[in-house]
Amino acid sequence: MATINDNYLKLKAGYLFPEIARRVNAFAEANPTAAIIKLGIGDVTEPLPAACRAAMVAAVEDMGDRDRFRGYGPEQGYLWLREKIAQHDFQARGCQIDPSEIFISDGSKCDCGNILDIFGNTNSIAVTDPVYPVYVDTNVMAGHTGPVNDRGEYGQLVYLPIQAENNFTARIPDQPVDLIYLCFPNNPTGAVASRAHLQAWVNYARAHGSIIFFDAAYEAFITDPELPHSIYEIEGARDCAIEFRSFSKNAGFTGTRCAFTVVPQSLQGKAADGSAVSIHSLWNRRQSTKFNGVSYIVQRGAEAVYSAAGQEQIQALISFYMENARIIREHLSAAGLQVYGGVNAPYVWVRTPDGISSWDFFDKLLHNCHVVGTPGSGFGAAGEGYFRISAFNSRQNVLEAMARITT
Ligand SMILES: *Cc1c(COP(=O)(O)O)cnc(C)c1O
Repeated sequence: MATINDNYLKLKAGYLFPEIARRVNAFAEANPTAAIIKLGIGDVTEPLPAACRAAMVAAVEDMGDRDRFRGYGPEQGYLWLREKIAQHDFQARGCQIDPSEIFISDGSKCDCGNILDIFGNTNSIAVTDPVYPVYVDTNVMAGHTGPVNDRGEYGQLVYLPIQAENNFTARIPDQPVDLIYLCFPNNPTGAVASRAHLQAWVNYARAHGSIIFFDAAYEAFITDPELPHSIYEIEGARDCAIEFRSFSKNAGFTGTRCAFTVVPQSLQGKAADGSAVSIHSLWNRRQSTKFNGVSYIVQRGAEAVYSAAGQEQIQALISFYMENARIIREHLSAAGLQVYGGVNAPYVWVRTPDGISSWDFFDKLLHNCHVVGTPGSGFGAAGEGYFRISAFNSRQNVLEAMARITT
């Protein structure tokens, strides 16, 4: 009989979202008239910007024309899109990123997992706690961890707690680690990293030959002009960091699919014989072999994000969600809850009242207010005692949910 990848059996059987669904369904069955409002899932709710739609419609027409038709595109993405990204997202912020260092993909989630293809199996790996579960689960699947303990922690991973006590920024570890996952603005806590904090990480990584995986999926939600949007705004980052970006949250592409990963030409890793190897060339090889690129139509849609109209429309989308975040913050604070995040990120991270557990607070909110959020403990042991509320929803749902919580 064919054998399987036993590492999959170590996974905590997708505990968080199925368990939320189980509790919500049980409540809905027992209370069929309750109008449940879901502020739990990290998916956008507003439709695609008009500029992106128009560009995609025009691209569909291109595909129906003999002369403008495109077959297989470059696996790295079309140059016209990579040039706009390099210029608008990096060079305009003083980061020397070249279009050849940008790889267009169908998702940051996918790339965060796929990137492990080009790294060895004996690296020590650090993640924050709480954490975006994809970083952990993809390492479990790749066999980089031991089994899970009853706190939900996997053997061999280095967990860096992020809590109110350390302003949701991890203490730089004492021991050397090879790969470090950082996500700023952070999902789930909504926390941000100062320039000084990122500089400390970059210095650490350069001192130890580590590589930082920097997930900037929420950079567009930064409102504080002092905060860096890209790790490449930090001196030395070109030698130690890969950055993941996505059109999912800023332009509502969660169902359309387009993202990109930045791999600087200067980034190096070590081969078994001790020689230094270009990470860029390995990723290029990996993508060329295992990936066919993103569809021409979708890349045209993403390109339109950088048009004047597109920029205005995505700014309006982001402002809309951030106004939701402000409403959530203000109402929950007024209700006496301690809230974090929600200023430079679409997530509000709430301290559960009176020391009750994340899941008890989940049940309380569901039963008393018919509002669904996400228990912080589902993102890691150090998320216990916290709760995530997402700003991705209609204004009406946000206002109604907040009215229920505060009355
Ligand atoms: C939503 C999200 C992404 C984006 O993922 P895509 O695959 O590009 O849709 C990446 N990282 C985090 C932490 C996210 O929450």
